[in-house]
Amino acid sequence: MHADRSTIWPYDASGEPERFFYSRYDHPAGVEAETELGRREGGDALLFASGMAAEAAVVLALAGPGTTIALAEQAYFGTSVLFGLLAGWGLSFVEFDQTGPPPPAEIVWVEAPANPALTMPDWEAVRAHGGLVVCDATVSTPAYLRALDEGADVVVHSATKFLTGNHAALLGATVTRDPELGRRLRQVRTNTGGVASPESAATLTRGLATLDERMSRHTESARELARRLERHPHVLHVRYPGFSGLISFDVDDPRRVETSLRLIVNATSLGGGQSTLESRARWEGDRIPAGLLRLSVGLEDVDALWADLEQALAAT
Ligand code: PLP
Repeated sequence: MHADRSTIWPYDASGEPERFFYSRYDHPAGVEAETELGRREGGDALLFASGMAAEAAVVLALAGPGTTIALAEQAYFGTSVLFGLLAGWGLSFVEFDQTGPPPPAEIVWVEAPANPALTMPDWEAVRAHGGLVVCDATVSTPAYLRALDEGADVVVHSATKFLTGNHAALLGATVTRDPELGRRLRQVRTNTGGVASPESAATLTRGLATLDERMSRHTESARELARRLERHPHVLHVRYPGFSGLISFDVDDPRRVETSLRLIVNATSLGGGQSTLESRARWEGDRIPAGLLRLSVGLEDVDALWADLEQALAAT
């Protein structure tokens, strides 16, 4: 199963482009992954070079000078950085507690669940708002959420995470049911060039084939670890939405815990078969609690993961 890596395909005998002609428009491995992701989400999917490339395309396709975006607070840090960068182009954003109604804005941008706050959007309030709705469903994946059915106009994913599931490919995706939004997103992708590589797309296709099995294992282990963390005397607070593999918890000395790990990898990112843990304050500063650790529970033996957490917590 090798992805077709060509960037060009010949025109037909009459000199007209066929289905594929230049890979910045699309390519076979990309279309295969898009078809499967679109089927899972119930819409039309487009792949991008990263989750951030997908987010940037959504902003360029949906927003313009004067647009205000209501962004879920303590959602993925990079999203607020991107919106801040675009202030010079006339975009503004306000952060809000997504467990309640969004403030006035043209676009409501929720994250289900928010990384690392792990809150879920109040879908009823989101639907009642009237603005265009974007949902970052990276942590839920379509195994747990079909955000288009909940009222989202566009779903975005960092497919780098659970969707591929192995820390081996960087890519992102958008999914929509609205043909006009889909056309604009495609136009932005083609003309900004943030396309996913054929290799990354093929990794996503393989990842989607085992998504349900992996997600139920992530959930089973994360539920158990969240329960045990709740009872640990060195753990001040635990956040876990009840599904998927992401937990965040607070300790007094996060640096000590992360540098004491032996099995869990002290690294950024999430959603892999290999568990990762990091203190988020190094990236997010005082936007989040200083002692917050984000744990992405992988597919390892749950008791081995707990033994590693216990010995790292004992170091504090
Ligand atoms: N959205 C969420 C919820 C994320 O966690 C991330 C990355 O950590 C992104 C978007 C950005 O994705 P990428 O790193 O693939 O650009």
